[in-house]
Amino acid sequence: MKPFKDHHELFRATLRRFVEAEITPHVDEWEEDGLVPRSLFKQMGELGFLGVEYAEDYGGSGADFWMTVVLAEELARCRAGGVAFSIIVHTDMSSPWLSRIGTPEQKARHLPGIIGGETVCALAITEPGTGSDMAGIETRARRDGDEWIISGAKTFTTNGVYGDLYFVAARSRDEGPTHAQLSQFLVPAGTPGLSVASKLRKTGMLSSDTAELVFDEVRVPTENLLGEEGRGFYQLASGLQRERLLAAVLSVSASQQALDDTLAYLRQRQAFGKSLAEFQALRHRIADMATQVAAARQLTYHAAGMFADGEDCVTEVSMAKLFATEAANQIAYEAVQMHGGYGYVRETPVERFARDYRLWTIAAGSSEMMREIISKRLLPK
Ligand SMILES: Cc1cc2nc3c(=O)[nH]c(=O)nc-3n(C[C@H](O)[C@H](O)[C@H](O)COP(=O)(O)OP(=O)(O)OC[C@H]3O[C@@H](n4cnc5c(N)ncnc54)[C@H](O)[C@@H]3O)c2cc1C
Repeated sequence: MKPFKDHHELFRATLRRFVEAEITPHVDEWEEDGLVPRSLFKQMGELGFLGVEYAEDYGGSGADFWMTVVLAEELARCRAGGVAFSIIVHTDMSSPWLSRIGTPEQKARHLPGIIGGETVCALAITEPGTGSDMAGIETRARRDGDEWIISGAKTFTTNGVYGDLYFVAARSRDEGPTHAQLSQFLVPAGTPGLSVASKLRKTGMLSSDTAELVFDEVRVPTENLLGEEGRGFYQLASGLQRERLLAAVLSVSASQQALDDTLAYLRQRQAFGKSLAEFQALRHRIADMATQVAAARQLTYHAAGMFADGEDCVTEVSMAKLFATEAANQIAYEAVQMHGGYGYVRETPVERFARDYRLWTIAAGSSEMMREIISKRLLPK
C-alpha cells in the first residue's frame, strides 16, 4: 500500500525541483566549507519547507508525518548526507520538543523563527563522557532565584557551531532515581558562558557542522526550562522515535540512489569485452542490494505508519532504524566495490554516501542500542 496521497506527491515534486536547482549544485562547495549556509535555511523557511508539521498559527503547514517523510526522502537526494542531516536536526531532531512540550510563550517566541529559518536549532544531549547512556549526563543545572545556572560540556552537537538555539539536557537534581534527575533547557547562542570549544573534523557529513560546547555558569531564566523539571529523561526518550525514524528514512532514500548510481555504472562500464552488467557475480549482488532497499523501505514505512497513527511503535522504529542503517552500510560497501577505483575518489557520489551514512549506525541510538531495545521488549527481564 502506498502511504502518500496526492498532496504529498505535489509537495515532493516541488521540493525535488528545489533540491535539484538550489541544493545539489552547491553541495561540493558546502562540503568544502564545512557548513550549510544560513541563506539555505532562510530560503527553505520562506518556501514553507521547515515547518511542515507545525501549527499554522506559528507559520507552519499543519501537515502530517508523511509530509516529513517526503521532506527527508527528497533532501537525502541532494548527494550530501550532511546537508540533509543539518536540516533534519533543525526540523525534526531538536525543535519538535518545543512544539510538543513547550509553553505557549516559548512557542510564540521561538517557533516563527524556527519555521522561517532565522533560528537554527541544535540538540545537545551527548557529552564527552556519555552518549548511549543518557542517564549518565553530568552537565549540571542548579536553580538560583528566577534563573537556572548550567555548567558542563557537550560534544557532537550538530549545528552547534553556527546554530542559534540549543536544546540542552542537564542534571537538575541529585536525589531520587537517576532517570528522574534530568531536565531540558532552551539556551540561545550568545548567552554569556556558552562557547564553542571546537568544530570537530569528521569522516563524513562534512557540510553539517559539529561542535564541542562548554557551559561555564550559563544563566538562563526559569522560563527557559522545557517541559517539567526532573522529567527530561522521559521527555527525551519519547522524542527519540521521530529522530530514529528519520535516520531510517534518510538511509533508505540515499541507499536507493546509490543502487541507481551503481546500476547506471554497471551498464556503461566495459570489461573483458562486455558490459559489467552482464557478469553474474555482480548481477546477484545487485539483486541482494535491491532486496535490502525494498525491505528497509517497507519496514520503515510500517514503523512510520504506526508513528503517524500515534501507536506504540518503539519496537518497530528500533527495527527500522537498525535494519535501514545497517543495510545502507552494506549497500555502500557494494556500491563502492562495483565502481572499482572510481568508487574510491571524491568525484563519485557513492564515495561520499559510504562516508556519510557510516554515521547512522552510531548516532541517534547505535545499532547495539537498537538491539538492546528490541530484545528487552521481546524478553523483558
Ligand atoms: C557526526 C555526529 C553528529 C552527532 N550529532 C549529535 C547531536 O546533534 N546531538 C547529540 O546530542 N548527539 C549527537 N551525536 C552523538 C551520537 O548520538 C552518539 O555518538 C551516540 O549516541 C553514541 O554515543 P557515544 O559516541 O558516546 O558512544 P558510546 O555510548 O560510548 O558507545 C561506544 C560503543 O559501545 C556500544 N555500546 C554502548 N552501550 C552499550 C550496551 N549497553 N550494549 C552494547 N553496546 C553498547 C555503542 O553501541 C558503541 O558501539 C552525534 C555524533 C556524531 C558522530
